[in-house]
Amino acid sequence: MTMIASNLQQVQARMAAACQAAGRPVDSVLLLAISKTFGPDAVRQAAAAGQRAFGENYVQEGIDKIAALLDLGLQWHMVGPVQSNKTRPVAERFDWVHSIDKLKTAERLGAQRPEGLAPLQVCIQVNIDGGANKSGVAPGEALALALAVAAVPRLCLRGLMVVPEPAPDFEAQKRVLAPAKALFDLISGEKGAGLGQFDTLSMGMTADLEAAVHTGSTLLRVGSAIFGQRSYAPA
Ligand SMILES: *Cc1c(COP(=O)(O)O)cnc(C)c1O
Repeated sequence: MTMIASNLQQVQARMAAACQAAGRPVDSVLLLAISKTFGPDAVRQAAAAGQRAFGENYVQEGIDKIAALLDLGLQWHMVGPVQSNKTRPVAERFDWVHSIDKLKTAERLGAQRPEGLAPLQVCIQVNIDGGANKSGVAPGEALALALAVAAVPRLCLRGLMVVPEPAPDFEAQKRVLAPAKALFDLISGEKGAGLGQFDTLSMGMTADLEAAVHTGSTLLRVGSAIFGQRSYAPA
């Protein structure tokens, strides 16, 4: 077994234990493998071990990797910021975008989504802990943006993503993540048009996945626990 395959098994075991501890069904949480900075071979190893959904942070790196791995038919999620001059390749190549924080970006993605493809699945990124210089809409603006994005043709609004600052321990992590779950529930309770598939709370990474499962995450974005430590960060 490759290192990546055995890492994946360990992450799945962590997820299963966290679900059990939280009294949630194991299949209520999806695993997105964040492959940023790792090459196509690493993704092939994870795919060979059964992983189907992968996430990228940088548009050009993601586009290149998707092109190199077309034969595998994987699902690709953009989780990093998308500048408005980079929307076209994202709309054409990715299946999901988690990082919507402006209506204008959403409108460009929708307009550029090719007719022959399924609607682009999108989440609103919320700056849940008020971190400075961070992407994401303020919590108080999330509902209005969600309703506006839900109305954009060729997009399907699926939920929220949060990327809080690291917190030191389980209790501190839960305190940071709980408001995201509350906001997710608030928006889920809205009956507006286009909110029918609002079912995804994209929350939790390598360091806080247990707290995220406990708090109600439905999708974990895990990088280093699967692929190893990242040795560089492309711009
Ligand atoms: C890099 C990254 C991750 C994965 O982080 P790990 O700590 O390596 O699990 C998840 N989400 C986003 C948005 C990221 O940029």
